[in-house]
Amino acid sequence: MHVSETNQGFNTRAVHAGQEFEPRTGAVVPPLHFSTTYAQDGIGGLRSGYEYGRGGNPTRDALQEQLAALERGAHAFSFGSGLAAEDALIRALCTPGDRIVLGNDAYGGTYRLISRVLGGWGIQNKPVDMAALDDVRAAVAEGEGARLVWVETPSNPLMKVTDISAVAEIAHDAGALLVVDNTFASPYLQNPLALGADVVVHSTTKYIGGHSDVVGGAVVVKDSELAEKIGFVQFAVGAVSGPMDAFLTTRGLKTLGVRMERHSDNAQKIAEWLVGRPGVEKVLYPGLPEHPGHDLAARQMRRFGGMISVQFTGGEAAARKVAEATRLFTLAESLGGIESLMNYPSEMTHASVKGTELAVPENLIRLSVGIEDADDLIGDLDNAISQL
Ligand SMILES: *Cc1c(COP(=O)(O)O)cnc(C)c1O
Repeated sequence: MHVSETNQGFNTRAVHAGQEFEPRTGAVVPPLHFSTTYAQDGIGGLRSGYEYGRGGNPTRDALQEQLAALERGAHAFSFGSGLAAEDALIRALCTPGDRIVLGNDAYGGTYRLISRVLGGWGIQNKPVDMAALDDVRAAVAEGEGARLVWVETPSNPLMKVTDISAVAEIAHDAGALLVVDNTFASPYLQNPLALGADVVVHSTTKYIGGHSDVVGGAVVVKDSELAEKIGFVQFAVGAVSGPMDAFLTTRGLKTLGVRMERHSDNAQKIAEWLVGRPGVEKVLYPGLPEHPGHDLAARQMRRFGGMISVQFTGGEAAARKVAEATRLFTLAESLGGIESLMNYPSEMTHASVKGTELAVPENLIRLSVGIEDADDLIGDLDNAISQL
């Protein structure tokens, strides 16, 4: 039955992991299970291990198996959103009083969750520059030591690249666990568990779902003790993904490899085109040789991905003008879908960190480069930027 094996290539695992055909009818696509409850053969006599939908659902399990196989983990847990996944993992692995050391350009919603929601539960946080490894080491060791180190690489929206193996070593030396938010890279481009991370978290809303039509999140681990704790919170708190959401996410995930190749091709062309354009101050893309994280990204990522940030010499006014002048790049929150999106982080995705030490430059726009034809996307940007 299990045609998916760990030694297979990424795309084979993406198509087959958790996707065995349905034995009764032979349906090649496993059916979508909506039932919230399962008939028992006598009290406690479960037919196939399923009892109640919050605890387990075959459609969600298929997605979890697929996610674990693609992240090189052993256990995956699917949630109703990326932030629900983050909340569950922090509650599972921390106790009140614990400290989380996180990148000083972490996703705004992550910082808001850790500081304003979990802060009230007693979680401390310490933002640091993850590229300054001595600062990271000092922040992790402080006091009784941090419980979690939280890395996003490449980061959102500054596209900073963090050395996952080096930070894993720092975390482990101090008895902390390393969590990597792998949303920007996706499991096709980067597998943090294979580089020493203990936990991977995703907003599957982005590249994994890939079509901007389903919100979701996931946690993936190798270690079975961590898995037991996270599985308990998933079950006991219940922020699980629904069957339809899990089905759509699985369907998107099957094509992740081909999508990421195209996102990366297009983003590389666009980034190179943007460099040196009049009005453009800086292009932040790890695929550019001049990017400070280029060599590191080349070592720990398969390719450089579909996200680019651009800063303009004309400041906030220029960034706003470009953001409102494109036609193919839709001005919208979110990222990672097949359609190109443009975002003005300081007022949109990162409005929640405005005025904090995690604030984003006001002359910056973020591009989520889609899978359209690169020439059309460049034409759209050319038209917008030439109006500056
Ligand atoms: C969107 C995002 C999240 C939050 O995920 P939701 O699915 O929106 O809850 C977390 N981390 C990163 C890097 C993101 O881009």
